[in-house]
Amino acid sequence: MTLSTIEDRITKAAEKAGRPRADITLIAVSKVQPLDRVAHVLDQGHRCFGENKVQEASGKWPEFAKHYTDIDLHLIGPLQSNKTRNAMQLFDAIHTVDRPKLAQTIARIAQEEGRCPDLFIQVNTGEEDQKSGVLPAETDDFVTECRALDLPLRGLMCIPPVDEEPSLHFALLAKLAARNGLTGLSMGMSGDFESAIALGATHIRVGSAIFGERVAQG
Ligand SMILES: *Cc1c(COP(=O)(O)O)cnc(C)c1O
Repeated sequence: MTLSTIEDRITKAAEKAGRPRADITLIAVSKVQPLDRVAHVLDQGHRCFGENKVQEASGKWPEFAKHYTDIDLHLIGPLQSNKTRNAMQLFDAIHTVDRPKLAQTIARIAQEEGRCPDLFIQVNTGEEDQKSGVLPAETDDFVTECRALDLPLRGLMCIPPVDEEPSLHFALLAKLAARNGLTGLSMGMSGDFESAIALGATHIRVGSAIFGERVAQG
């Protein structure tokens, strides 16, 4: 598949949902992809990308930024506290704020640096042991805590369990966001972004459908 095919499918899904196309941001997930494939998507004018590892992103994006302006880079993978400053310098948005300690570290560094990326709280909607994110029942309190720290909170993010119907998780995330007055919903990947759009996604994270299968899973 190609970028333009995905763009068409987004436009159709938005129309079907009666939503403005402009309310949906396509994050092209470039983790582990060969650099020439990433450059090809940049050459087509796309500027919003997602990476799941700080170190991997540091290795390629400062270089791309020398050749392409206005790159909008999103961290969509877990963030270790000791990499927070690097991440905040490199990324325009962080989708994986998942614990009070990390929120506090981000708040402290934001004070020091005088800037902070847009933030999303990751919610473990499937309550899976191996997955990061706050539990649905903890979400309201954690939103309150992030707001008390004056963090620029944009919305919520989830990664549904692989073996469950994703729309149930998208609907739950939308409900949690709405009752906390949050408008951003980071949800939907290659296999399910259309149903995510139907349920209100504002940020879809699409990797393999744009770039092809990843050589190694990241
Ligand atoms: C890799 C990844 C994606 C993209 O997955 P695809 O199925 O290739 O679209 C989306 N979100 C997160 C958090 C990821 O790690």
